[in-house]
This record gives sequence, C-alpha cells and structure tokens, in this order.
Amino acid sequence: MSLKLNLKPEYKSAADFFRNHDNLLLLVHEKPDGDALGSVLGAAHLLQSLGKTVTLVNDDPIPDKFRFLPMADRFLLPEEVEGTFANVIAFDCGDRKRLGRSQGLIAADANLLNVDHHVTNDHFGTENIVDLEAAATCQIVFKIAQELRIELDLDTATCLYTGLVTDTGGFRYSNTTEEVLLIAAHLLTAGVSPYQIVDRVMETLTWPQVQLIRTVLDTLDRDESGMISWVTITRDMLERAGGCDEDVEGLVNYPRNVEGVEVGISFRESVPGKVKVSFRSKYVVDVGAIALEFGGGGHARAAGCTVDGDVDTVKDRVLARVREVVTAVDTKPEATQ
Ligand code: AMP
Ligand code: MN
Ligand code: MN
Repeated sequence: MSLKLNLKPEYKSAADFFRNHDNLLLLVHEKPDGDALGSVLGAAHLLQSLGKTVTLVNDDPIPDKFRFLPMADRFLLPEEVEGTFANVIAFDCGDRKRLGRSQGLIAADANLLNVDHHVTNDHFGTENIVDLEAAATCQIVFKIAQELRIELDLDTATCLYTGLVTDTGGFRYSNTTEEVLLIAAHLLTAGVSPYQIVDRVMETLTWPQVQLIRTVLDTLDRDESGMISWVTITRDMLERAGGCDEDVEGLVNYPRNVEGVEVGISFRESVPGKVKVSFRSKYVVDVGAIALEFGGGGHARAAGCTVDGDVDTVKDRVLARVREVVTAVDTKPEATQ
C-alpha cells in the first residue's frame, strides 16, 4: 500500500543518495533518543534491503529500553572502528558537533547526507534533507522509503514507529499532524504493535527513575508570574537514586505541565562545572532560539544546551534570559494554535 504524501524535491535526492552509495557509515547524535535510534536503524534496514553494507557508530551505549530495536546490537563505539568513511549519513542531528567523537570517522572529502528536522540545523552535510515540518526524523526516513518504493517490513516499521511515537510524546505534542497519524496507521498495517512499543519506551519506569522523580519533584519551583517553572537534578541526586543518564529524560515535563506555565526547564549537573539544560514550551516561546544563544539547539517547543558553570550560576543566567523572552511575548494560548 502506498500513501499519498507531500514529497518535496529533496526526498528524491535523498533517495538517490541511498541508491547510489555503498559501504555507508550511519551516525546519530550523542546520547541517542528514540527518534535518533529509530531513524538510523530504520534506514539501516532500508539500505540493507538495497544490498548495501552499513556500519553503525555512536559515542554512547544504547539505552536498555531501546535494545529491542532490530539491529540495535550492531552499534560500535568510534574507537572500535578503523579508518574513515567516504559515504556517511547523519540522522536527527542539527550540527556536526552533536556527533561527538564519531566525527573522526568521516573522511575529509566524504559525501555526507544530513537527514534531520531541527530548526537550528546548520546544513552541515554535502547534501541536506532538513524537513522542519517533520515531527520526527523517522517521518523523513519513512518518506525516503516511499520515494524508494520499498514496502516496509516489520523490523523497519518497528524502528520508524518508535521515533514517531517518542518525538511526538505519544502523539500528544503540537507536532502531531495528519501526516504523522497517517504514517503511524500505515506502520500498524505493516504489523507494528503500538502498545508493546509505547509500554517499553515511554510507560515503563525503572526503579531508580522513580526514586529520582521523588527527589527531583522536591526541587520544583516557579517564578512570580507562574509562567516559568523548573526542576534541578544534581549528580548527588542521581547517584543516590542509583540512576543513569537516561533516567533524567522526561523530568522536564513536570515543570512544563504545571497549569499556567509557558516554559518548563530542567537543570542537570552532568559533570562538575557543566549543566545540561532542557527547555520545553507550550504555545509561543521559541526555546530553540534560546538554546541556540547558549550554544545548543533544538525545536521551537523542545530544545537543549550544555552550559559551563555551577548549577546556581547557570540557573541564574538562563532564567534571566527566559524571563526576558517570556515578558516580551504574548503567551496566551489563543495567540497561536
Ligand atoms: P532534550 O532536552 O535533551 O530532550 O532535547 C530536546 C531537543 O533539543 C532534542 O530535539 C535535541 O535533539 C535538542 N538538543 C538537546 N540538546 C542539544 C544541544 N546541546 N545542541 C543541539 N540540540 C540539542
Ligand atoms: Mn533526537
Ligand atoms: Mn528527532
């Protein structure tokens, strides 16, 4: 079955890139999430079905909850790979820096296809398919598959559904469009079990994760206007909970979801002297632009950056800037859709 989708001309060029290159290095951003892994693994399956050889590399271990994804066990660390690659595709990554150490595997004159949906994407590829209307990079990969006229098998569909469901927050965020739901329905036709996937990657909490939630909710705070709210996660809290990096994901939704809040933020001490800041906004504030000012990036409604300094200093600096932006805009929900 084929879906009628809005395939812009870049999709044809991206499909040609898939067709015309072999021995490909496939990369995604460091600390990969559901969309990064779903899109790269979905594409890996497509490329294999075209008879291509692929090498999957990431700086970080694959989070446990995503290890069920078909071919997730194929990931190597950059140190485990020799030489450089002349043909490379990067997925779900707004700039080269986000590829981390894996960048070292890209040959100086490589053909590099950049497949992404971040508004802050700097078009770092030699070819770029940056579709800002896509809710997830998995949506772009699905459309490349349509352009290639490949009928999706269950493994590919499982990967693509995972990114679609995680980047839309379970089809709840403002990036949930008619096209997203049509593609999701199509993936179910290919045999995907939506409940199983969402239960694994979104609903299930590890025990350390719940302990962390208990502690972190104690730090929940908001400004005088009630439009900015935040939580703080120190290294000590994470250690006491017995948690790891991926347990922090999603905590920013607590401040975001408080009634009256426009911008929700989490401040997370990642290593001493560095704070990972996650931003979420509800209706109008472009948090991607704020994150970019602090050296990060993302989307209008979800963005992040890592800022040098101790937690209190970073918090003061970031909150001061967010306050300025919130004061300058009309944050009433009716002001936008
Ligand atoms: P997070 O807050 O880490 O869940 O990220 C929210 C969104 O912002 C995701 O789409 C990320 O890819 C993007 N993002 C997070 N951190 C950074 C960063 N340091 N640089 C660029 N984009 C980022
Ligand atoms: Mn991502
Ligand atoms: Mn994404």
